[in-house]
Amino acid sequence: MLGIETSCDETGVGIVRGTELLANVIASSMDEHARYGGVVPEIAARAHLEALEPTIRAALAEAGVTLAELDAVAVTSGPGLGGALMVGVGAAKALAIALDKPFYAVNHLVGHVGADLLRDDAGDAPLELPTIALLVSGGHTSLLHVRSLTDDVELLGETIDDAAGEAFDKVARLLGLPYPGGPQIDRAAAEGDPRAVRFPRGLSLPKDLERHRCDFSFSGLKTAVARHVEALRDAGEEVPVADIAASFREAVADVLTAKAIAACRDLRVPRLLLGGGVVANARVRALAAERAEAAGVALRIPPLSLCTDNGAMIAAIAAQRIMAGHGPSDLGVGADSTLPVTVVQA
Ligand code: ATP
Ligand code: MG
Ligand code: FE
Repeated sequence: MLGIETSCDETGVGIVRGTELLANVIASSMDEHARYGGVVPEIAARAHLEALEPTIRAALAEAGVTLAELDAVAVTSGPGLGGALMVGVGAAKALAIALDKPFYAVNHLVGHVGADLLRDDAGDAPLELPTIALLVSGGHTSLLHVRSLTDDVELLGETIDDAAGEAFDKVARLLGLPYPGGPQIDRAAAEGDPRAVRFPRGLSLPKDLERHRCDFSFSGLKTAVARHVEALRDAGEEVPVADIAASFREAVADVLTAKAIAACRDLRVPRLLLGGGVVANARVRALAAERAEAAGVALRIPPLSLCTDNGAMIAAIAAQRIMAGHGPSDLGVGADSTLPVTVVQA
């Protein structure tokens, strides 16, 4: 199964056999977005167009298979950037038609959960369902209840404004750190005091929890950091970047892990899976591990190369659909930038 992913700024092509990872090649246009401080949709779409063919060839070479040996072609059909998705969906359909192979349209968020199927650390038990999944990236902050990877995923909550990765990128910019801001803040935070400033935890007050128990909000946090930095600058004081980075990172990690563990408790699901680029964050990982252990929750974090956007996770979900006896997608299925996660079989 060949899987194509073009929902954001990574052109990802992966090849799997069932749950066996044969190739995972990624070309990123991240550098081209750096001077704008965030992903520019039109630039991402053009970059996919240029990168897709060489990335497909590189994946075939890495897996040691020819186009003719593929059984099927899978692609992310949504959610994501419309123009970027259309490049991948068009390419996947063209390939499926030319090769006369079945076509599978896959939901990107379900793909992130499916990434866990491909880990090859032999000591690990296979993914058990149901599981709670927390997906945190530049475009998403979603809490899911996953009962089946092929037809039963429930959205428990999501961000009502910025995604967690987006918040990292915006706060980094405020602090004068380059894009992408997540890794920069993580590095700066390691030298700082997380208790230096008590930044707000979005949607965590008792009155918010009633309606937004599993939802997230990061724009208030971003504004609080901006005000704090402004006040220091106005007073002519130096901005303690490491302390602010550490305090901000603490606020994000605190909310993400508290809500994810609460969902495990509420739903009596003692399993939590993390996915998305923000999972690279050292404090998110450490706090998730600490709180999962205290709550008796089994925590799974796939290797980082599978946590960030990639085509292999998309192929893995399509392979699950075949193994579950489901048929392919209709070639009439197109890119859908707002595809809900509950539409598992796009
Ligand atoms: P999508 O939302 O469609 O999955 P994306 O490209 O925004 O796509 P990823 O590539 O999974 O998402 O992740 C990129 C995001 O992760 C960026 O916002 C980046 O700042 C953030 N990130 C990466 N490393 C870290 C880190 N160590 N700490 C915090 N955030 C990080
Ligand atoms: Mg990305
Ligand atoms: Fe993603």
